[in-house]
Formats: sequence, C-alpha cells, structure tokens
Amino acid sequence: MMKSLDEFKIIDVAKKNSTHSPGKAVLGIGDDCAIIDHSKDRYTLATIDMLIEGVHFNLKEAGAYRVGRKALAVSLSDIAAMAGTPKYALLSLGIPAYIDMEDISDFYKGFTDLASQFSVQLIGGDTNNSEKLICDTCVIGESAIRKTMRRSGAKIGDAIFVTGELGGSIKGKQYDFTPRVEEARKLVDLFDIHSMIDISDGLSSDLQHVTASSKTGAEIYEASLPVSKEAVSKEAALSDGEDFELLFTASEDISDRELNESCAVQVTRIGKIREYSKGVTIVRASGMREVLRKTGYRHF
Ligand code: ADP
Ligand code: MG
Repeated sequence: MMKSLDEFKIIDVAKKNSTHSPGKAVLGIGDDCAIIDHSKDRYTLATIDMLIEGVHFNLKEAGAYRVGRKALAVSLSDIAAMAGTPKYALLSLGIPAYIDMEDISDFYKGFTDLASQFSVQLIGGDTNNSEKLICDTCVIGESAIRKTMRRSGAKIGDAIFVTGELGGSIKGKQYDFTPRVEEARKLVDLFDIHSMIDISDGLSSDLQHVTASSKTGAEIYEASLPVSKEAVSKEAALSDGEDFELLFTASEDISDRELNESCAVQVTRIGKIREYSKGVTIVRASGMREVLRKTGYRHF
C-alpha cells in the first residue's frame, strides 16, 4: 500500500489540514524547520526526523553508536539549513526485542557525543516496543531573525552553491557527516545569502524544493558538480540522498574565493536561479541541456 503513496502528496494533505488548526507559528509546514515563536530579535525553530532500521540505517553494519549519532545529526542538519543554533532535543525510541542494553548504551553515547559537540541538551522523549529500531528526534533551536534562512528566498539571477562533495554517502558519510551548523551561520553572517536547504533527499530533489518554494526555475552545470570520490557516477551526485551538505543561493557577483576562505568546508558554484518559466534544467558536460528529473531518494 505504501508503495503507491508519494511523500510530498502526504505532506500536502498535512499542510492543507494544518490551516484548520489554531496557532501562531511564524512558519508552518514546508521548510527545514518550523518557526514557532520569536522574541525581539530571535526565532525559535523546531524540526523532527524519524529514522527507521532498514530504511535509514543498517544497525548491524553501522553499530548502535553511529545510529545514535545519526539520529541527532539529521535534525541538526535541518537547523543548519535555517542558519540556526540547536539547543534542545527530544528523542523517542521504538525498540525491538533483539536490542540489548549494550546497544542502548552505545546508541546514547553516539547521540550524546554529538549533542555535547553542539551544546544540545536532551530534555525528554518516549520509549516503546517495536518490530524494528525506530528513532524520532525533535530538535528545538533558535536563530537571529534577520539571519534566518528559508527555502523560499532564491532570486532570479542568484548563483547556486553547495558545500562539500556529493554522492556515495551510503559508504559511510550518511552516519559520520558533520551537520553544517557552524558553516551555515558563518556564511549568513558574512555574506548576503538569499535561500538555503540541506541536501537530504538528493541534489536534484532538494534544489527543486528551493525553486518550488521560491517560484523560480534553475539551471545547474554537470561539469561543476563536486562529485565525491565515493560516488559511483556523476549521476549519483545528483540523486544520492543523505549528503547533508548545504545548498544555498546568493547574488551572482559574490566571490567564490571569499566564500571558500571564510568557510571551513569547500564551497562550489554549481548553477544559477532562472525564471520559473524556464523550468529546472541541467547543462550536461557535452553542452546539451535537459530537464532535471527529481531522481533523489524517495521514502515510499
Ligand atoms: P526535511 O527533509 O528537511 O526533514 P521533509 O521533506 O521531511 O523535510 O519535510 C518537509 C516539510 O513537511 C517540513 O516542514 C516537515 O515538517 C513537513 N512534514 C513532513 N512530514 C509531515 C507530516 N507527516 N505531517 C506534517 N508535516 C510534515
Ligand atoms: Mg532538511
């Protein structure tokens, strides 16, 4: 039954229904985090992500420590995408019978090591039995109102950039990546960045979340893609999920050298935001232009 469902259609139903629920969120469904409250100059951010054994991790191969680390890292990556600072985490676990206490300790060690690194406090959660290991992590954070990034801010003519390298995260980066929290904050502090998202579904899908939210088109250049040496092909850099790098857009005249000097990780210019009517395309290394298909990771 799940096979016939589309994740984004489900989110649309949630979004339509959420307009009937009362509340004063500044930003509801549709970005990497919701903005749930604000003070004079700070927003409160909230995000939640579920990882399921066999879908998002292989417990035997990775070991419980890396799974616990990933359970927090994916949500920190969403806070990074808004240029926020993570503060608190809530963790719910569905635990199958074959997990022992040593696994639980290792899981929490992985979670807590990353939490300490980013000064995040675990403040609660829930525990139940389940068929497979399920971890659902909610992270609350904050951001400076004037420096908060959204998917919807891309402007026609903007250059498109990505941090790090793309593709092949299945070989290990999917567990061991560092959420780009510090890089995102530094970039928005120093430069006039217009929009940002983290690449969790794959570049071709996540770019289209930015263009759809910003009501623009885009073109990317195959020859410019920073393809990881772990990626099996250039195509993998477009479609592999779980890179957890940042994709952002900024004025075309921004200096690549200055971006790279200020950011601890490599920043690569990969394309340009265009008019909505131009669609989202890829210019192949051969010079041929094609429609960019959403080949990214799909959950159903
Ligand atoms: P990300 O990959 O950045 O975590 P998603 O693609 O999972 O983002 O989600 C996009 C948006 O849809 C987010 O605002 C998220 O909170 C919301 N969302 C996802 N699933 C649901 C759901 N079942 N009910 C309500 N909102 C949802
Ligand atoms: Mg995200």
